[in-house]
Amino acid sequence: MGRVYNFSAGPAMLPEEVLRQAADEMLDYHGSGMSVMEMSHRGKVYDKIIKEAEQDFRELVGVPDNYRVLFLQGGGSTQFAMVPMNLTKNGTAAYVITGNWAKKAAEEAERYTKVVRVASSADKNYTYIPDCSDLDIPEEADYLYICENNTIYGTEYKTLPNTKGHVLVADVSSNFLSRPIDVTKYGMFFGGVQKNVGPAGVTIAVIREDLIRDDLPAYVPTMLRYKTHADKDSLYNTPPCYNIYVCGLVFQWLKKQGGLEAMDQRNKAKAKIFYDYLDSSSLFKGTVEPKDRSYMNAPFVTGDKELDALFVKEAEAQGLVSLKGHRTVGGMRASMYNAMPVEGVEKLVEFMKDFEARH
Ligand SMILES: *Cc1c(COP(=O)(O)O)cnc(C)c1O
Repeated sequence: MGRVYNFSAGPAMLPEEVLRQAADEMLDYHGSGMSVMEMSHRGKVYDKIIKEAEQDFRELVGVPDNYRVLFLQGGGSTQFAMVPMNLTKNGTAAYVITGNWAKKAAEEAERYTKVVRVASSADKNYTYIPDCSDLDIPEEADYLYICENNTIYGTEYKTLPNTKGHVLVADVSSNFLSRPIDVTKYGMFFGGVQKNVGPAGVTIAVIREDLIRDDLPAYVPTMLRYKTHADKDSLYNTPPCYNIYVCGLVFQWLKKQGGLEAMDQRNKAKAKIFYDYLDSSSLFKGTVEPKDRSYMNAPFVTGDKELDALFVKEAEAQGLVSLKGHRTVGGMRASMYNAMPVEGVEKLVEFMKDFEARH
């Protein structure tokens, strides 16, 4: 079949150029005589790879000097525990519940701290982002937690909450590097890279230096302290070496594309093609409030389960794959991350028009 347009929510498409470069360098990385997979993480060659990856990430995102960039393991899900373990001093944290991932993060945090759910969109099956301009955040809350892009439900914050002076913590797993951000608005943000950045196995956390503490309760495992990783430049133990290298190739690719401004324009253009058609369709319907629509993940339905299943099956035969929706929403979901070319979305919309004409 050759390469397909893969609309998976994650692990997801990577830029073909990056995959080709990784393939070219597989057996002999830059004359080292070995694959990046085989080399010591303490050697000179690898040290350059991880340092350059961090530097390129910093340049792309515009990370100020008083923030650390950490390459971690354990996926986004491990951050659900690391955040409260590392950031609670007063023993209270505020969470905005906009879907499964925020809900899971809050439940995990409850093992370590009191959690106050200051807003939620559960009343309408998470189809919108609650108004966060005037939240009732407890004075003593150590941080306000949000999931900035809701991968499953397809909603995304268009403006960040008014934190009223509290530290903002954001899970950006599924809109990581999709557009420029102002890092100074966050105390920290993190993302598993397998949605929009690289191969599964790396979690990148960006954290303001003053939030990295060593006066933590004794129960906090060494590996789950940000300080452990910050002190050793993400080389406390063996990192996911190869996956960090591929992330580094993606950062270089992003810089070549024109950086996050260019990605933002491209992602908005793709989303416009998709949502404009969706709004004009009499067969397909979006499942979320239009103003809160994600630029990355677009759930949609026909309202008929059998027709949905037929759509997914026929699309696959056209090389448009992984369009089945998450079980909690049903229907379909098109994830259009950085590496999804405009042509992929155009082809999807053409196929949807054709399907609509036939049904
Ligand atoms: C996928 C996802 C997670 C979970 O990530 P893992 O790396 O699988 O633990 C967390 N948050 C969001 C927003 C996600 O999309």
